[in-house]
Amino acid sequence: MNFLKNLFGQKTAPARSLLALKVRCRRCGEIIESRVDVANDLSEDYDEAGQATYHCRKGLVGRQHCYQTIEVELQFDANRRLIDRQISGGEFVEE
Ligand SMILES: [Zn+2]
Repeated sequence: MNFLKNLFGQKTAPARSLLALKVRCRRCGEIIESRVDVANDLSEDYDEAGQATYHCRKGLVGRQHCYQTIEVELQFDANRRLIDRQISGGEFVEE
């Protein structure tokens, strides 16, 4: 993939990486999987010190018919590492 290497090889941007999300609906128990692309899906914030931080909000809906939306909110540090997460309507499932 020399073409891609030429395009992106010089940059210091973080490697594209996907964060897997796995949650269980509190109402019907369905397991819902999703992914967050930490290189592209995050919104930038600034804390009190002016330091950049990131967050990502996702609403997950299962394929069954309970219509529950599971709200997931993820917080990342300046290096786009996951530092905190909240969920409502379900719970995180650890791999
Ligand atoms: Zn459900």
